[in-house]
Amino acid sequence: MSETDGGVLRAHSSETPSCKVKMVDRLANSEANSKRIAVVESCFGAAGQPLAIPGRVLIGEGVLTKLCRKKPKARQFFLFNDILVYGNIVIQKKKYNKQHIIPLESVTIDTVPDDGDLRNGWLIKTPTKSFAVYAATATEKSEWMNHIGKCVGDLLLKSGKAPTGEHAAVWVPDSEASVCMRCQKVKFTTVSRRHHCRKCGFVVCGPCSEKKYLLPSQSSKPVRVCEYCYVQLTSGSFPPDSIGRLGSKFSSNNLSDDEDEDDSSD
Ligand SMILES: [Zn+2]
Ligand SMILES: [Zn+2]
Repeated sequence: MSETDGGVLRAHSSETPSCKVKMVDRLANSEANSKRIAVVESCFGAAGQPLAIPGRVLIGEGVLTKLCRKKPKARQFFLFNDILVYGNIVIQKKKYNKQHIIPLESVTIDTVPDDGDLRNGWLIKTPTKSFAVYAATATEKSEWMNHIGKCVGDLLLKSGKAPTGEHAAVWVPDSEASVCMRCQKVKFTTVSRRHHCRKCGFVVCGPCSEKKYLLPSQSSKPVRVCEYCYVQLTSGSFPPDSIGRLGSKFSSNNLSDDEDEDDSSD
């Protein structure tokens, strides 16, 4: 990292001139920080949440490729010291929508090995939703992972809480499965639709995912699970920690059906 004007640190700008990730220093409550947060707020417009709260610092921002249900898509990410915010890019650096806010306290990250065109990736896992993101370069990836890891560590240290033990399954993208990943028989077509098991994340057919099960960290209502996971869950074969905890404060904002996946329709 090297320092540039105004205390703004640009991640390894000499090595990666096209680097889009900007990591800034941590001057909480500084005027520059307040201004940056105000700019992020205004880019999301009225549909976004207010982001300026005392003690919140904008650590960095950049474009990451998010592996969505249908295909990888560019999303604008903002890392604050307590939350990760992302949205769809309407106009680069000017307008974003479909804001998502992830409390960092519940986040765990895991590196993803490079696979074809999908390189420099890692998983962002939370109790309610987990997904893979990819940076443009290995340097950007390590910047992001280091900063997210540091923020999560600082938060847990401050609160005295243990790291989140359980997380929602990372969904296998639709394109990865032409046949049901459980029965290996049913071919997916426009009539025979793909479904996702909320427990294992597999792409499965309707008959293999007729059951629903209450996963409290994901939803207050029972959610679709595959036959295999249903048997495991009902027989208590999964360790209790992986079944989900009651009283999650995020349980109300979850998706109740396959069609609702936040960015499957755009
Ligand atoms: Zn099946
Ligand atoms: Zn399953």
